[in-house]
Amino acid sequence: MNPNIEEVLLAEPRGFCAGVDRAIEIVERALAKFGAPIYVRHEIVHNTYVVNELKAKGAIFIEELSDVPPGATLVFSAHGVSKAVEQEARDRGFEIFDATCPLVTKVHVEVAKLAKEGYEFIMIGHKGHPEVEGTMGQLSSGIHLVEDVADVATVSPLQTEKLAVVTQTTLSVDDAAEIAAAVRARFPRVREPKQQDICYATQNRQDAVKIMSPQVDLVIVVGSPTSSNSNRLRELAQRLGTESYMVDSADELKAEWFEGKGRVGLTAGASAPEVLVREVIDRVRAFGAVSVRKMDGIEETIKFPLPKGLKLDDIPPPGHIS
Ligand code: SF4
Repeated sequence: MNPNIEEVLLAEPRGFCAGVDRAIEIVERALAKFGAPIYVRHEIVHNTYVVNELKAKGAIFIEELSDVPPGATLVFSAHGVSKAVEQEARDRGFEIFDATCPLVTKVHVEVAKLAKEGYEFIMIGHKGHPEVEGTMGQLSSGIHLVEDVADVATVSPLQTEKLAVVTQTTLSVDDAAEIAAAVRARFPRVREPKQQDICYATQNRQDAVKIMSPQVDLVIVVGSPTSSNSNRLRELAQRLGTESYMVDSADELKAEWFEGKGRVGLTAGASAPEVLVREVIDRVRAFGAVSVRKMDGIEETIKFPLPKGLKLDDIPPPGHIS
């Protein structure tokens, strides 16, 4: 027991976004409609609990399409896929459901439209992240990745008249702004998206951590190590001067983190279900927390439609993860 913990402050908003909700529902409805197994290319969303729950219901997660048997039903993850992967899946004749977040698809559409007009692109993002691979793979060439300000100095487009910036949706808002400023300084004519590519969920969760961090002595982020937006939340709290840790589940919490801490802030990345947040609260209560207070924040009402073929009301999502 730790008698110092006065209260837990819950960030608002936190946890599931509309794109994650939709992606999970697509797999659950596909399972209900077609039966197990349903193949999913890459983790549907970057969360261990979600992936394990769906595995238990009959989803099989693969990276290579050659691991999917002919005639199978295949779901693309929320992160999106390259044109080459999309084409290969079609050529192999799978029944395909695309769980790419519509906000990622929006970036793909913008890339395709501007490429037709002769644009090259500078993409701000993390190398190797599936969303970045998917977006860069919308074109066979002409997208140059920059991960930080230093990369901006070395990037070498073939021309600078028609150059546009695109961004991974789950970046640090502040880092991305700094990198975009460096891009502007080097390429003053660069075209920037009318509405930023970083999504509303990433922005809102980071804004909530900015409000919460100065009010607490410790920030706990619920999220898996592979989750980009969860990592950004932990880094943000740390940058704001508040000790912070990310946990995949309540089991990973360490009693010593809470020693001498009066107020504990708690948030969750966009792919982390609320059930894990509840488990973390229970554990922090066991450590000695006396009360839990939900902070004021933006209420998110956005909801994305399901793809054709999975909309029917007669396919109820069985035991939807939340
Ligand atoms: S974090 Fe943003 S881009 Fe990613 S699935 Fe959620 S809403 Fe879509």
